[in-house]
Amino acid sequence: MEPGRNRKNRMALLDAGRSMNRAFSVRELHTAARDAAPRLGLTTAYRTMERWREEGWAEDAGTRGGEAVYVLCAAQGHHHHVVCVDCGATALLEGCALEPARESARTAGFDLLDAALGSLPARCQACAGADEQSA
Ligand SMILES: [Zn+2]
Ligand SMILES: [Zn+2]
Ligand SMILES: [Zn+2]
Repeated sequence: MEPGRNRKNRMALLDAGRSMNRAFSVRELHTAARDAAPRLGLTTAYRTMERWREEGWAEDAGTRGGEAVYVLCAAQGHHHHVVCVDCGATALLEGCALEPARESARTAGFDLLDAALGSLPARCQACAGADEQSA
């Protein structure tokens, strides 16, 4: 494969990821990136996401509709995100938002693995409001 196209694909994926502004699945990333790189394959998108996660600036953000979603995040140190389960909106929670849970777990003799809870399922105001109106 010629290096020129690889580079173009990477840039297209990066631009697409940055413009998402919410948690996204690899398929959504792929779809968004194809405007700029029509020949971009889904496999390349999955491989790129793997690399981003290894490099530490994409994080797992749970699932939406049964599909794994991710957030791009440059924050350093231990932190959590809230991710809207309906629309994928995200917000960064500084520091450890699970300190009380960690304390309770410790009292019960457990060490809470809160790194596995980097993203907390939530519902944003817009989606919560939409629910109320339809109810
Ligand atoms: Zn993060
Ligand atoms: Zn929402
Ligand atoms: Zn924490």
